[in-house]
Amino acid sequence: MKPTTKMEQEVVELSAKLTPLTTAEIKRIKRTSVEHSGLYTGKRVKCTECGHVWQQTGLRKQVRCPHCKTLLTLRATKGKKAKEVEYAIVLQSCRSWQVARYFRVKWSCPVDGGRQYEIFEVVQHWTRNDGKHVIMARPRFMSFYVDSFCLDKPMSVKRCSSYRFSYRLPYCGVIVRSINPILKRNGFKYGLHGMQPFDLFNLLLTEPFAETLFKAGYGYLLRQLDYESKLHDENYVAASKIVMRNHYPLSRGDVDLWFDMVRDLLELGKDVRNSHFVCPADLKKAHDRAALLVKRKREREAAERRLEQLRKDKKLARSYVRRMKKYFDMKITDGNIVICVLKNLAEFEEEGAAMHHCVFANKYYAKPNSLVMSARVRGKRQETVEVNLKRFELVQSRGVNNSNSKYHEEIVQLVNANMFLIQQLSRSRRNVK
Ligand SMILES: [Zn+2]
Repeated sequence: MKPTTKMEQEVVELSAKLTPLTTAEIKRIKRTSVEHSGLYTGKRVKCTECGHVWQQTGLRKQVRCPHCKTLLTLRATKGKKAKEVEYAIVLQSCRSWQVARYFRVKWSCPVDGGRQYEIFEVVQHWTRNDGKHVIMARPRFMSFYVDSFCLDKPMSVKRCSSYRFSYRLPYCGVIVRSINPILKRNGFKYGLHGMQPFDLFNLLLTEPFAETLFKAGYGYLLRQLDYESKLHDENYVAASKIVMRNHYPLSRGDVDLWFDMVRDLLELGKDVRNSHFVCPADLKKAHDRAALLVKRKREREAAERRLEQLRKDKKLARSYVRRMKKYFDMKITDGNIVICVLKNLAEFEEEGAAMHHCVFANKYYAKPNSLVMSARVRGKRQETVEVNLKRFELVQSRGVNNSNSKYHEEIVQLVNANMFLIQQLSRSRRNVK
């Protein structure tokens, strides 16, 4: 895409001036930003770094290559070659911008010989001091894979609405060249705490509370608050402030446990501004206890709901019988088809289950002016019929799965022909009362 705004034009100009990776940086990327693996074939291990092969029995997690002395993670495989694509990020400041440059590191290890590398810059995230950002990237092939970049095409400005997602690349290593002074002032040193650089920079530049958390050393908590969209939730912010005030240790692994616990505490109506609750001595124990209490509370509520429903159903069942009793003895028939009124809730349930429709689920028995009947032939259910008792009209007649049975026309005619009977019953008994 061609740059159209002043901001994009500035980025394109600055991007052209960025220096390529130095030999030392390439060395560092090869050392720290990729997996060092050994291919284990059952009897032998092949070092993917130098290609050295040696005899070994038993699969261990890690082993040191006797030739190049690299510590290798062993991979059980049948093949003798391997290849992988990984990403390294280089952070550098450029005037009022902080750039995160993504380098695609593809390594391959052929059948004979050691590793070969191809390193290309594929994406640049430019974040300005006011939090605004511009993406520069190489074009991509139409593919599901995130790393299908056209490496022979130059980088250009990208403005697709979902770029935040499509240019999120998983990275293995970070090299810091320089940091923008504003970001430094706002607490950033070099650790990304598992976040994408532009996400973190944007938070540090635009959210004062993010800056406070980060400066206090709670980068992983910030990451989780952002991920769960709770950065503006007063309860979570208050609980995080208590954590900071008490210097409560929260490691990367603890953060989601702590989050679950706070969510449960809120559900239990506990005070999350109280350090007794949000800074427990044993986080795992406190988390499990809160989870158990929430489980019990939900079970209690479900039991109460069931009881309440039962009460309502009983009331509805009584009211249904009271309203419809006068039709219970009615039998509409032409000798073949027999149509009778459903007499209680159990019959509605059976009808709904047998006919695969919603007569029971949608509580037709609770509709005050609806007469529901079952049309059968030799005892076999054919259709369920609904008559409007206010206008004495046939509302619907539905077979299995709401489709028409082969008796549909006959059933409709039969009901319409006997509508006077329903009308009579309705009037006569009303008058008797
Ligand atoms: Zn080696």
